[in-house]
Amino acid sequence: MAEKLQAIKGMNDILPASIARKDKLPDAALWAWFEDVVRRELSAYGYHYILTPLVEPTALFVRGLGEVTDIVEKEMYSWRDAMNGDALTLRPEATAGIVRAMVEHNALYNGPLRLWTMGPMFRHERPQKGRYRQFHQLDVEALGFAGPDVDAEMILLVRRLWQGLGLVVGEHVRLELNSLGQPAERAAHRAALITYFEAHAAELDAEAQRRLHSNPLRILDSKNAAMQPLIEAAPKLMDFLGDATLAHFKAVTACLDATGLAYRVNPRLVRGMDYYNLTVFEWVTDRLGSQGTVCGGGRYDGLFEQLGGKPAPAVGFGLGIERLLLLIQELALPVPVVAPQVYAVIAEPALLPQAVATIESLRKAGLVVRMHAGGGSLKSQFRQAGASGARHALIFGADEAARGEVAVKDLRDATATQITRPLTDPAAWAHTLLTA
Ligand code: ATP
Ligand code: MG
Repeated sequence: MAEKLQAIKGMNDILPASIARKDKLPDAALWAWFEDVVRRELSAYGYHYILTPLVEPTALFVRGLGEVTDIVEKEMYSWRDAMNGDALTLRPEATAGIVRAMVEHNALYNGPLRLWTMGPMFRHERPQKGRYRQFHQLDVEALGFAGPDVDAEMILLVRRLWQGLGLVVGEHVRLELNSLGQPAERAAHRAALITYFEAHAAELDAEAQRRLHSNPLRILDSKNAAMQPLIEAAPKLMDFLGDATLAHFKAVTACLDATGLAYRVNPRLVRGMDYYNLTVFEWVTDRLGSQGTVCGGGRYDGLFEQLGGKPAPAVGFGLGIERLLLLIQELALPVPVVAPQVYAVIAEPALLPQAVATIESLRKAGLVVRMHAGGGSLKSQFRQAGASGARHALIFGADEAARGEVAVKDLRDATATQITRPLTDPAAWAHTLLTA
């Protein structure tokens, strides 16, 4: 026998509910339900669906995300195309590709755009619960909008998603906010940080020393416990922010306040990519251990220009679908199950063609019918009819067929008497099976 092959470490099969293991990643039915909620809410907020390639030129991410970021330094799947030598990368995030596409198609020519996409991202990280090498994101971007209005709307859109999914804000997820200011303000803060950390050079770990002159802001993001007192006492960006930046931030929080959404201003919130400015936010949970950020985003007004486009303000977020669904699974939130309305039991194999014709007519009339396939005893067919969650069973039996009829059994009411319906023109009685 040939050797069995396995999926790549950190890249998961998302399996149908019937075969998925409860201690593993959530099943595909949960994903489909999440996608339904997302489609509904995003279109209600006026966002349009977009798809961009999974593979992009490596330069896009190096320029877009910043050279001294975790992603570009050590997490990207990059290679040379053996055919033509092109430097290629599997996308580690969605924003850079979307901005590349908008610049390439001069898409903001007619005004701003609200866009969303959903799909796999790739990062070479150490796989663990909530952290994978292929993971999936919902990604939402508002392009060409400068104001705090759209920042606030986007945060509130995430709250709508939580509500649609049954998550309680404050209990299951909470919002953290910060302002990263404008480039000049960040530069002043950066200079002050370098001076401060230089004065404490002996207390820096190796990673911090390396970042001191390339990206000192990322030192603030260090997870090294020994460094925390030093980081706590470091100069705060808030003290370097000018009036316009503070006014923008205040306008965002005023909108959130008006809708009763609670948040915590976290001056330590920096985010992993270089492209952010002004508003940044994260939605976090403490039910997933250290992988607690389910959604993160913010403003990136400089990215269009950095990627060769006309300057255009923009704001967006990425939501980690695995983490979110793990949270929903962990909390055992009720998830709607999609059951057929009717299960067709075919008692007599010779009746199959007649049964198929009737079933197709019922489907055309709008009924969700699951046809028993593969034969088997009546008993086993009824067992599967019960397991399907269908309200009714249609029974195609020899006696009924001889009278030109099909039997209908109420699967949820054992006392209900079995009725029959004519095999001709099923559309005429299909609606009688729709009542709950
Ligand atoms: P973290 O700090 O956990 O590494 P991040 O800041 O790198 O997250 P972003 O790049 O902002 O994450 O991506 C947005 C969201 O995508 C995260 O909040 C998280 O929910 C999810 N995410 C990021 N990396 C992974 C991964 N390797 N596996 C699963 N989900 C991920
Ligand atoms: Mg990361």
